Amino acid sequence: MKIDTNLWFDPRNLFVGGGWRPASGGTLSVEDPSTAETIGEIGRGTAADIDAAVEAAEAALEGDWGRMSATERGRILTEMGRIVLRRAEELARIEALDVGKPIHQSRNDSVALARYLEFYGGAADKVHGQTIPYRDGFTVYTLREPHGVTGHIIPWNYPMQILGRSVGAALAMGNACVLKPAEDASLSSLAFAAIAEEAGLPAGALNVVTGLGAEAGARLAAHPGVHHLSFTGSVATGRHIQAAAAANVVPVTLELGGKSPHIVFDDADLDAAMPVLVGACMQNAGQTCSAASRVLVQRGVYDQVRARMAEIYGRLESGPAMGGHDLGPLVNAKQKRIVSDYIALGRAELTVAAEGRIRDDAAPAGHFVPAVLFAEVPPDHRLAQEEIFGPVQVLIPFEDEAEALKIANGTDYGLVAGVWTRDGGRQMRMARKLNVGQVFLNNYGAGGGIELPFGGTGRSGHGREKGFEALFGFSRLKTVAAAHG
Ligand code: NAP
Ligand code: MG
Repeated sequence: MKIDTNLWFDPRNLFVGGGWRPASGGTLSVEDPSTAETIGEIGRGTAADIDAAVEAAEAALEGDWGRMSATERGRILTEMGRIVLRRAEELARIEALDVGKPIHQSRNDSVALARYLEFYGGAADKVHGQTIPYRDGFTVYTLREPHGVTGHIIPWNYPMQILGRSVGAALAMGNACVLKPAEDASLSSLAFAAIAEEAGLPAGALNVVTGLGAEAGARLAAHPGVHHLSFTGSVATGRHIQAAAAANVVPVTLELGGKSPHIVFDDADLDAAMPVLVGACMQNAGQTCSAASRVLVQRGVYDQVRARMAEIYGRLESGPAMGGHDLGPLVNAKQKRIVSDYIALGRAELTVAAEGRIRDDAAPAGHFVPAVLFAEVPPDHRLAQEEIFGPVQVLIPFEDEAEALKIANGTDYGLVAGVWTRDGGRQMRMARKLNVGQVFLNNYGAGGGIELPFGGTGRSGHGREKGFEALFGFSRLKTVAAAHG
């Protein structure tokens, strides 16, 4: 119960219809991945709790929330952002303990959540319809309307950022949200609900039901009263969500995984590239959908890049989240097993170029793995094709631009790509031909800006979240044609 005493809300309760109530399925334990110790409990929400949350959301749309002006909605979101900033350190600490994220990275997530709320708060009253020139005797215009009840199912790797981009944009457009966080990362979503309550968000506009994916999550995805689904998580679960959405014929946004390439040409500014090549995968111990897990390097600089990356790996340390080291533990025992199996496969079939170390103060029961870099990896090897979701990178040499593109586009995924080259023409060609949702030229991730639309192609999913673009996805267009002679 270590963490409960530090919280200003009771995490065993669900937030439904503006009030806190126990889950009808009992409780689930909360683990600190740095120690594998149980630190508290959350509610195990069931299908009945989801049904109650959807009902509360419907009532909100008919009530105060549905009648609120866009400006007023924006003002409340902005106020939520202010409270997040005031509580930023508490939120960061909650996240570090709950998911094992190094505390300095959790602090970034708190600030990103506040930024989403500020951005969407400011944008709420700036999404306009249009008037359309039409035949004589008609006036035609379009209205942007909320979908209604939106369902949000989020993963454990960046809970605060993902709820900020998804729920923040949906609320800005006037939807009423039902949020099901991952069972391994629910505390920050509950904290967010408490912040919404404090900011005066009308009852039912946001409902948070914690619980298991197969219980609460599956019911939310299949609920006939939900008008739009936003899902971030694995491809396997994404397929279920899309099938459930198809049954109700509702739109769905899927943000799934990736196997993103980071491409280094001979003419790259290597001094600038080197720390980014490693950092773009090691953030959150590689548990990032956009992790640059494949490093494609042109032959002329391959040996140099390999040696310089190895030097950086030699300094990488995995340790307890609150220590703020390069890497924290992985989120749970299952993820450690999956990643360790990939590392074992790599050790058996590939060349290890370098590895980091696990610190002596890391608890043996914690879910730690070292960072590992494999060299000369064939592009069709499993470690170069499958998403590992851990601190593992593969180095793949290439000869020319055509081969770089072929390898980069040669997986089922298409989320992000980074390209390092000083050749302007090549930058433009690569940006056009890479089959991904976002391309970063001479950087990777651009600091993760909340303003930048984000999403995938192929198995990485479809639809865009983040930035202004997300507001179009979280609303629908109505055309009004008036005949007046
Ligand atoms: P996951 O197993 O797909 O879980 C994601 C969410 O779906 C969780 O809230 C989970 O609940 C819920 N869920 C599981 N089964 C469900 C079902 N049958 N019906 C409805 N909901 C269900 O993924 P994860 O292990 O949490 O996250 C890792 C994966 O997410 C990776 O593949 C990663 O690439 C991807 N990801 C993508 C992005 C992106 O933006 N593209 C961002 C982050 C992560 P429980 O946790 O309670 O089971
Ligand atoms: Mg946990």
